Amino acid sequence: MTTKTAAEKALLKTKFFPFWLDNEAAPEPEAPLEENVQCDLLIVGAGFTGLWAAIHAKEANPQCDVVIIESECVAIGASGRPAAILSTSVMHGLDNSERLFPTEMDELERLGKENMDGFKKALVRYNIDCDIEWGGELTVAIGDGAIEDINGEYEIYKKYGHDAHFLDKAAVQKELNSPIFSAGMWSKKRSGTVHPAKLAWGLKRAALELGVRIYEYSPLLKSKHLKPGVLVTTPKGSVKANKVLLATNAFAAGSKKIKRRVSAIRDRIVVTEPLTDEQMAVIGWKNRQGIYDTRTQLNYMRLTSDNRILFGGRLGYFFNDNTDPVADKSAKNFLPLMTQFYKTFPSLANIKISHAWSGPIALTTRMAVHYQHYYNGDMIYAGGYSGFGVTASRFGARVGLEVLNKTDAPETKLEFASSLPGYIPPEPFRWLGAQLTMYALDTLDEKRGWRVPWVRLVEKMGFPVTPPV
Ligand SMILES: Cc1cc2nc3c(=O)[nH]c(=O)nc-3n(C[C@H](O)[C@H](O)[C@H](O)COP(=O)(O)OP(=O)(O)OC[C@H]3O[C@@H](n4cnc5c(N)ncnc54)[C@H](O)[C@@H]3O)c2cc1C
Repeated sequence: MTTKTAAEKALLKTKFFPFWLDNEAAPEPEAPLEENVQCDLLIVGAGFTGLWAAIHAKEANPQCDVVIIESECVAIGASGRPAAILSTSVMHGLDNSERLFPTEMDELERLGKENMDGFKKALVRYNIDCDIEWGGELTVAIGDGAIEDINGEYEIYKKYGHDAHFLDKAAVQKELNSPIFSAGMWSKKRSGTVHPAKLAWGLKRAALELGVRIYEYSPLLKSKHLKPGVLVTTPKGSVKANKVLLATNAFAAGSKKIKRRVSAIRDRIVVTEPLTDEQMAVIGWKNRQGIYDTRTQLNYMRLTSDNRILFGGRLGYFFNDNTDPVADKSAKNFLPLMTQFYKTFPSLANIKISHAWSGPIALTTRMAVHYQHYYNGDMIYAGGYSGFGVTASRFGARVGLEVLNKTDAPETKLEFASSLPGYIPPEPFRWLGAQLTMYALDTLDEKRGWRVPWVRLVEKMGFPVTPPV
């Protein structure tokens, strides 16, 4: 008989389903499309991008006839599965923004802050209760070697006018008592955490109230250019639309070509049972920030409104961009994440995991939203936020509509909106490359050898991975 490890015991009664979606507040799905309909704007996919796009389109022109088709139900994709740590950056963080578009940083930062303020106002306007907490975001250094990275992050946040604070070891451990944290950078304003499914369900209600027609369990099967307009077919109906916005994220539905630049990576999360008052007193975390760390395979963590710890960040890739991997519905693939959890929270060695799941990340070389044009621009794909889209998707959807409508909005002239991320090799090279890269990143903090030149090669392809010098 083999003895079970602490992690195996913790995962014994786990539900392999997103905690956020396991909620009685989930609305009934809208009926599927079972007729042939027409509209001005068809949106494919009812995650944050699709829902925000529908709301923006209606706000801009209440007469615009908007239809959404969704292959399953609202928020079943990434939008019902994130850690949902909110960030102002619309380009996957300030470092990434500076890496990609250094000359447009000021404008991108301004747009990011404007987007977050608009996000906040929209929640009030549509009366969306989504357990929002404005505790800020905290980046923590793991080990003394990473303090320099935190300093760098602090400098760049300060430079672009964020309410950033450098925390030394004592100060960061006062915020969250983990023995492995050696410093931190706390950006206090315009960031925090949200219940992502409640947000998506609230956006769905708002869109319906604005007159958007939503059809769930109605996947796009194929599309045809009508010159002008597009005909989209679902299993039991069709939509003839003047314009189509593909908000299909890592699922890349709508055109086979999307995947040339978008890869479906899985990101994994575990959620504990609620902490007792005593456990909360030991770890601290009174300010309830959303937290990222500096590990090469980054971990992130936050509290839920009932004081569970959500802990995530162990990437995986499944052959052919599989967006529903069976392997992520059992304990084995979550054990490495548990190892990091115990290192971070040694005082919680006996805690049980109530939920575990993985979700689709639309990875591109840029890790930020871009637009692919099809059918002379009558249909565009808007996506690629990677792990950073809860609020950026509102921005991505808004600019996506400007691009689709071929307006002169200044945002559409910015490089992120007018150019494309790099190609990603097809299978089987994609799978092989992903396995090697993830293994290299997993073990880079402890070992070097071939990993350093390999990661350098991946960096040359355009991905934001930097091997240590
Ligand atoms: C584990 C994880 C952690 C994350 N953590 C954070 C975080 O802390 N902070 C943050 O900002 N971001 C985070 N993200 C990223 C964020 O969740 C996404 O960027 C965002 O939800 C993307 O929204 P979307 O609408 O573009 O995609 P999705 O929500 O994936 O929506 C795409 C929709 O298209 C539908 N679809 C697919 N095929 C078809 C078809 N043929 N016909 C019709 N519909 C179709 C899907 O069912 C899906 O509902 C995380 C993501 C994951 C997976």
